[in-house]
Amino acid sequence: MKIIMLGAPGAGKGTQAKMIAEKYKVPHVSTGDIFRANIKNGTELGKKAKEYMDKGQLVPDELTVEILLDRVAQEDCKNGYVLDGFPRTIPQADVLDKELTKLGDKVDFAINVDVPDENIVRRMSGRRACLKCGATYHIEHIPPKQEGICDVCGSELVQRDDDKPETVQNRLSVYHEQTQPLIDYYNEKGILKSVDGTKDMQDVFSEITGILG
Ligand code: ADP
Ligand code: ADP
Ligand code: ZN
Repeated sequence: MKIIMLGAPGAGKGTQAKMIAEKYKVPHVSTGDIFRANIKNGTELGKKAKEYMDKGQLVPDELTVEILLDRVAQEDCKNGYVLDGFPRTIPQADVLDKELTKLGDKVDFAINVDVPDENIVRRMSGRRACLKCGATYHIEHIPPKQEGICDVCGSELVQRDDDKPETVQNRLSVYHEQTQPLIDYYNEKGILKSVDGTKDMQDVFSEITGILG
């Protein structure tokens, strides 16, 4: 099963993608997580990506497409994956489509997690992330058991640099300009499913499992 998660930054794509990955036994592939791991490890890719990410801009398609195609070519992606944060532009979607077509394959579902802009800023300001294992929390809605500490691995939780309010506004405009057109793109392909992302985490997940079966 190959699934794409669509939605504004902070809509809950990552949260749902992790739950999907666990239930359907497919890897969770997040381009944002790959970039952050590279930044943490001080790689060349990380250095380049950080310049864009800190401003709330998208990393250029050439860089992003290459790392994504490398990742999905790995053995564990053979039976499917859930893509979180990719594609984010029409050219990225076209490349993915072309590569899959070459393999006689296709994306099964594009799930749009729908959350209005007003809710987004609140979601992002409360987001806390574990940079070690990728787990994500929300200080009000989805708090860790112990304040500031990751439930999964015990590391310290941090606020992402790009979750500061100034950057969030930028990311939202970038989303509307460059990523939102993908909703029509996948609708035309007949694989778009929208879910109400303002509900609580479990209710959103029930809607999604209703779709995926
Ligand atoms: P969020 O889940 O909050 O939207 P991500 O972790 O998906 O954030 O992405 C963080 C940042 O990483 C983005 O703002 C962008 O700079 C970069 N990024 C991630 N995925 C892509 C992509 N597919 N294309 C371009 N840039 C990306
Ligand atoms: P995205 O990957 O789309 O950027 P995340 O999954 O990281 O979004 O979620 C953004 C923030 O909102 C996180 O702090 C997360 O814990 C929280 N969150 C996710 N889903 C919900 C929900 N259904 N209700 C309330 N808060 C949520
Ligand atoms: Zn952790």
